[in-house]
Amino acid sequence: MTGKIIDGNAIAERIKKEIRDEIEKLKKKHNGSPCLTAVCIGENPATKVYVKNQKQTCEEVGIEYGMEQLDGKIKEEELLGKINELNKSDRITGIIIQMPVPNHINARKIQMSVAPDKDVEGMTPPNLGNLVYAGINPVVAPCTALSVVECLKSTGVELKGKETVIVGHSEIVGKPVTLMLLSSLLESVTPTVCHIATRDLTSYTKRAEILIVAVGKAGLIKGDMVKDGAIVIDVGINRVNVKDEKGNDVIDEKTGKQKKKTVGDVVFEDAVKRASFITPVPGGVGAVTTVLLLKNVLHLWKMRLGEPDITYKIL
Ligand code: NAD
Repeated sequence: MTGKIIDGNAIAERIKKEIRDEIEKLKKKHNGSPCLTAVCIGENPATKVYVKNQKQTCEEVGIEYGMEQLDGKIKEEELLGKINELNKSDRITGIIIQMPVPNHINARKIQMSVAPDKDVEGMTPPNLGNLVYAGINPVVAPCTALSVVECLKSTGVELKGKETVIVGHSEIVGKPVTLMLLSSLLESVTPTVCHIATRDLTSYTKRAEILIVAVGKAGLIKGDMVKDGAIVIDVGINRVNVKDEKGNDVIDEKTGKQKKKTVGDVVFEDAVKRASFITPVPGGVGAVTTVLLLKNVLHLWKMRLGEPDITYKIL
């Protein structure tokens, strides 16, 4: 069997168009626009690139993008005060705290200080808490977990009762995705969560009809760890050295540096031969995650405007 590729870029384009159309309609009706504000603490080259891309994607769908660049030495109290100001601003629809934050700042405390009705990342306790209640459609949810669900739903396969193994139990992926997939609104799969302390990982992955991997270790899931016909969702993003056919590192002729590439946690070339559906890396989960942040902004805006239907259609 050769698995069908779940095309994250195509899913992302479809969702982006839906968001753009809806924002355009709402702008006409309400005479305003949604605004996402990024909070950057200190200077970080990777964050700069990320913020630039985020700004561009927001503008493509009609979301204004603002940035609060704060000094890397800012005291935690002052930062909390700043976020409180943003929480109160009528102009701002959503707030995103760019990670990583400097070591002297407690990232979790900062994340939790964002008002739940501006929490575009769906990471505050009230928003995460709504995932626990079966039958409640959350307004916002963590984007990567939502992306996993979108990728699964795009296969058209009925999920109900399916033996589902989630590898990784982080707060941003493994735990929320498990809660979402348990939801009766999503047909209730039968999940098992594996993590660093799991003994004999293969015995779990081999029986998974749906295998979701979010660890951050290239090559963790080998082809023979995948059940025939499984749906494989690879969340991992890893930068690894490019090797030649003899296994030697390849040097980039232009830069003189080691050539690198992005891979997931699953050995794609082998797993694709067993899976029924599989997400590639790049071009899978990550591509969809980016636009779901925009969808969260839209949902928060609709909530503010008092528009009906402020829930996730996929749930
Ligand atoms: P994390 O470090 O917070 O969590 C890693 C998880 O993997 C933990 O639950 C840990 O117990 C588990 N783990 C570690 N080693 C293991 C092993 N040998 N066997 C089984 N489980 C093991 O990571 P995270 O923030 O959840 O991110 C996971 C991966 O997903 C990373 O590669 C990250 O870059 C990627 N990611 C991708 C997206 C996206 O949109 N595609 C978004 C967020 C994170």
